[in-house]
Amino acid sequence: MKILVLNSGSSSIKYQLIDMEDESVLAKGIVQRIGIDNSFLEHENNRRDEVKIEVDIPDHTTGIKLVIDALLNKEHGVLESMDEINAVGHRVVHGGEKFAESTLITEEVIKQIEEVSDLAPLHNPHNLTGIRVCAKLLPNKPQVAVFDTAFHQTMPRKAYMYALPYEYYEKYGIRRYGFHGTSHKYVAQRAAKLMGKPLEELKIITCHLGNGASIAAVDGGKSVDTSMGLTPLEGLVMGTRCGDIDPAIIPFIMTKEGLSMEEIDNIMNKKSGLYGVSGISNDSRDVEAAAKEGNQRAQTALEMFDYRVTKYIGAYMAAMAGVDAIVFTAGIGENQSRTREVIVNNLAFLNIHLNEEANKTRGKEIEISTSDSDVKVFVIPTNEELMIARDTQEIVAG
Ligand code: ADP
Repeated sequence: MKILVLNSGSSSIKYQLIDMEDESVLAKGIVQRIGIDNSFLEHENNRRDEVKIEVDIPDHTTGIKLVIDALLNKEHGVLESMDEINAVGHRVVHGGEKFAESTLITEEVIKQIEEVSDLAPLHNPHNLTGIRVCAKLLPNKPQVAVFDTAFHQTMPRKAYMYALPYEYYEKYGIRRYGFHGTSHKYVAQRAAKLMGKPLEELKIITCHLGNGASIAAVDGGKSVDTSMGLTPLEGLVMGTRCGDIDPAIIPFIMTKEGLSMEEIDNIMNKKSGLYGVSGISNDSRDVEAAAKEGNQRAQTALEMFDYRVTKYIGAYMAAMAGVDAIVFTAGIGENQSRTREVIVNNLAFLNIHLNEEANKTRGKEIEISTSDSDVKVFVIPTNEELMIARDTQEIVAG
C-alpha cells in the first residue's frame, strides 16, 4: 500500500509518499510560498534526485496538482499512475474533544473539523483546504485525518481543566488540548521498543523541542499531561512563543502600549520566546552562537529555555510518581547537544546521568544516559509522517 501524507499550512504543503510494504519514503517535498511571489516546489525521490520547480502557485489546488505531477514525472517521479496511491493521510492540528483518534474523512467529519476550527484558526482552515482539494483531485481515494490533539485526549480532567468559571468549558470548550500528539506518541513507542519493555508498563516523559515545543507525560502509553494548552502558546519557552506567563500581563501591556487583541496575540505568538528575549533570532543555533560571543540576552534566553524544560520534567515526574525514560526529539531535541547536556545535568540529583560521548551524536536514535543512570535518556528523531501513514493504513485496511 502506498500512502500520500500531506501537511497543508497557510502558504506551504509538505508531503511524503510512503510505501507501507517496508515503510520507506518513496518521495518527499514541500510546496512553498503559496499565494505569495517566488513560489516553488522542492521535490526529492528515493534515488536522491532533487528538483526545485519555480512556478506561480496561487492556491492550494495548484500546489497539490504540482505535487501529483512531480510524483508522476518521467524523470524524478516515482509512480506510473495515480492508481498506485491507495490513500491520503492528512495532518489536522485541532480535533477538539470530538476526535480522540484518527478518522476516515467524510462530509460529516469535515463539518466537525470546521466546528472546532475556531480553536485553531491559524491551522485548521488550511488543513481543511488540503482535504477539500484532495477530495476533488483524487476523488476515489480514501482520506484520513490524523489530529495533533488526539493523543492527549486521555488526559484526566484535573490536568485538562483551567480554573476558570466552569461555564466557559461548557460553552466554548475552553480546556487544555495539547499538540504534537503524533510526535509524542511515536517517540514514546520507540522508547519502549529500545528498552525492550511493553509501553503499558512504562512512565515516559517526551520532550518535543523544536521551534514549537512541548513536553508530555506518557503513563502506560497514554498521555496524562502535556505542556501546550487550548492553543500551542502555553508551556515551554519556544522560538517565538512566550509559553507560560502570568495572564494578568496581557491586559497590563495592552493598556500601557494601547494594543489591540490581535496585536498582543501576535506579540505572544510571533515576537516572544527565544526571539523576544534575545532580540536576535528564533533559531536556537543563532541564539547559541550569540551567547557564545558573550551576548547577555541570548544567554538569558537559553537559560530560560533549559530551566523551563527542567521544571516541566520535574513536574511530570511528580504527576506520574516516577519516570523510566526521558526522550528528546524535534530540531533542538535531536540536534542541540548543549541543551540536552544542561537539562540532564540539572537532573543529576535524581541519579539521572548523561553519557557525554553518546550525547555528541546528532539526529540519530541513541541512548544518551550512562549505564548506571536510574532513568534512561534517549534521543529519538520524530517521524510524524510515518505515524500518519500507519494510522491511515490501519483505517483504510479496516
Ligand atoms: P518546527 O518543526 O517546530 O518548525 P524544528 O523541529 O525544525 O521546528 O526545530 C527548529 C529548531 O531546531 C531551531 O531552533 C533550530 O535551531 C534547531 N535545529 C534544527 N536543526 C538543527 C541542527 N542541525 N543543529 C542544531 N539545531 C538545530
